[in-house]
This record gives sequence, structure tokens and C-alpha cells, in this order.
Amino acid sequence: MSREKFERIKEFAKDKETPCLIIDLDVIRKNYENLQTYLPWATIYYAVKANPDDAVVSLLRDLGSNFDVASRYELDQLLRLGVSPDRMSFGNTIKKEKDIAYFYEKGVRLFVTDSIADIDKLSRAAPGSKVFFRLLTEGLGADWPLSKKFGSHPDLARQLMKTAMRFGLEPYGISFHPGSQQRDVGQWSSALAIVAQLFNWARHDLKVDLKMINMGGGFPANYLEPTDSLEQYAQDIKRFLDNSFGLVWPEKIVIEPGRSMAGDAGVIVSEIINIAKKSVHERYPWVFLDIGKFGGLIETLDESIKYPIYFEGQGSVEEVILAGPTCDSMDILYERTPYFMPSSAKIGDRVYILTTGAYTQSYSSVYFNGFPPLKSYILPPA
Ligand SMILES: *Cc1c(COP(=O)(O)O)cnc(C)c1O
Repeated sequence: MSREKFERIKEFAKDKETPCLIIDLDVIRKNYENLQTYLPWATIYYAVKANPDDAVVSLLRDLGSNFDVASRYELDQLLRLGVSPDRMSFGNTIKKEKDIAYFYEKGVRLFVTDSIADIDKLSRAAPGSKVFFRLLTEGLGADWPLSKKFGSHPDLARQLMKTAMRFGLEPYGISFHPGSQQRDVGQWSSALAIVAQLFNWARHDLKVDLKMINMGGGFPANYLEPTDSLEQYAQDIKRFLDNSFGLVWPEKIVIEPGRSMAGDAGVIVSEIINIAKKSVHERYPWVFLDIGKFGGLIETLDESIKYPIYFEGQGSVEEVILAGPTCDSMDILYERTPYFMPSSAKIGDRVYILTTGAYTQSYSSVYFNGFPPLKSYILPPA
């Protein structure tokens, strides 16, 4: 973020009650354009859960994005905002039959699956629809892995494809998610090799030409730990696709960016509530902010996501422990990861938590300890 932009955000937030999230739509637009530039062969389905703000969704709608939808509530929101159902996929493997029926009734015809029971539901509630099969990945190398819970082993995926066909659904493609904030691009390589095997198997044994690879999200936002550039990811993934598919790539390559689209677009403005030591000789002071795990920073769980944090003030810095305001002892942000605060910082000062545009507001709790859900504002144009 440029100095000038940061000053604008600070100025805009000046009279706002904290904590609050300031969203910069210019960054979302830029991220969308960068994805198009570096991955021109990919079709973008924005993962709505990352930041479902109406303004964010409307901007992406206008830019031509498609949407990865996880619940009937997200579907209702998208319909309200005028997104047509042929720009959506129901990308959650865990769905009630009546919700599948609701999506189908509204016109959605593209569904993910990873189990026999789910295919059973799809065959009844969304007859004839296109289905894609999610593979299990381990999420190794990811800061927020998403492993284990979703997808099936390739052996089971073969069975699922057969079953789907028998049930009159259209086997359409294979999906995986390499793990969110995936810092090891090699994870795409191993997944794509398995995807290619499944494409071959479907062609020869099932006599079906699968059309789509859905590579999920995983592209990075800019937190404390450095990552390769998006351009580098794109180059590497293109090479992996060449390795696995040669000259003839599948018809449709989908990406579902969430974090990489919205993460860098947000700044949380917070305030220091208290600075305190627990004992006379304690080394590091505790700094309590007015936002914590329950106010929207749940991804600090296990200190997985390390947000860049900016304190006002000058002078020498000292290492601190950062914690949130609620009466739950797990509401600690960072105890092991070193964070530093200028010695001049004091109670009442503002603190800026950067790269908080994704997975913050949508995760904030509803009135735990009476604290309202995280409020957000769109930064007005300059
Ligand atoms: C959450 C999610 C995404 C977004 O992942 P990011 O790593 O945030 O880009 C994409 N696809 C699916 C199916 C998801 O559940």
C-alpha cells in the first residue's frame, strides 16, 4: 500500500468508531485485473465467503467475474445484486437436499460433489446438472490448509463419476483447493498430475470428455511472511498444466480466488485499550486491542495468519503480546510471533491491521460479550 493511500485511509477513519474495516475497492479492481493479466487462460469464480460485502460483489459483478457460492444465503444475495445464475457454481460439498433444490430452482446448474450420498441428493434435486468432483488435498505448505474435510481420494472420484453418470448427471470436471495462502506452488503441480490421470481415465474407461479443471483458491495476499508474486505463481502453474496436459488443455480452467482478491483491500482500524504486565518481572507487555479473535481476526488461530500491524509513534520498539478485548482466554492474537510496538505508543492510540480485507468481517461474531459484528466502510474515491 502506498504512503498516500494509507494517509487517505487514516484520514477517512478519523471520526469513525473503532474497530472498523475500511475496504478499498481500487485494490479489488486491481487484483481482478492482475488475475486476468497473469492467468488469461483462467475463468474467475470469486469465492464470496472471503468478503461478501455488497460493494465488493457488485464491483466484481460489473468486472465480469463469476461466483463460487457456498450457501443459499449467498445465492440470495447474489440474485438480489442481479448476478445471473449461469455465473455461479454451488461450490460447497456439504449441502442439504432442499438447498440443492433451491439452487436448481433459481437456475444454477453447476455443482461440486465429493460423496455418493451427495450425488444421490443432486440426482433428485438438480437432475441433469453438471457436476465436478473435488479431490482431497493435504494443504501442505498452506498457512490456512482447508485439508481433510473436503474432497475424495482419486479412487473414490472414479466411482463417483460412474455413479453420477448412472444417475443422469453430467460429469463436467475435477476440482481441488491447494490450501489457502498456499506458499508452495508445487502443491498445484502434484494436484494437476492427478487431475490429468482422472481426465485420461474418464476418456478411456467412461467415454466422457471432462471439460473443466477447477483449481480453487490458494493465491496469496500480502501478510508478514513473504510469498512469490502472482506472476510467478501463474508462470509455474502454466508450466504444470503444460506438463500434465501437453498442448491440449481442458476447455475451461477455473480459479476461485478469495483471499488474493480481497485480502489486500482491507485495513482494520483499532485502538489500544490497555497496556499491562502480569508480573513485576514479565518481559513482554500485553497490549489489548479493541479487536481480537471474535471481532474478525479468527485466522490468528494458532497464529496461522500473521497480519502486518502498524502502530503510531516513534522511538525504540519493544516486543509485545497482542490480545483482544473479550472475556475469553483464547482471545489472544500473537504470543509467539514477535510483534513490536514503539515505546511512545499509549492507551487510546490507533493501531492499523493491514491485509484484513478477507476472512475478517464475515467471521466476526454476533454480540459475543455484547460487541457488535465488525463494521465496514468503503473508502470513498479520491
Ligand atoms: C474458500 C474457498 C476458496 C477461496 O480460497 P482462497 O484461498 O481464499 O483464495 C475457493 N474455493 C473454495 C471451494 C473454497 O472453499
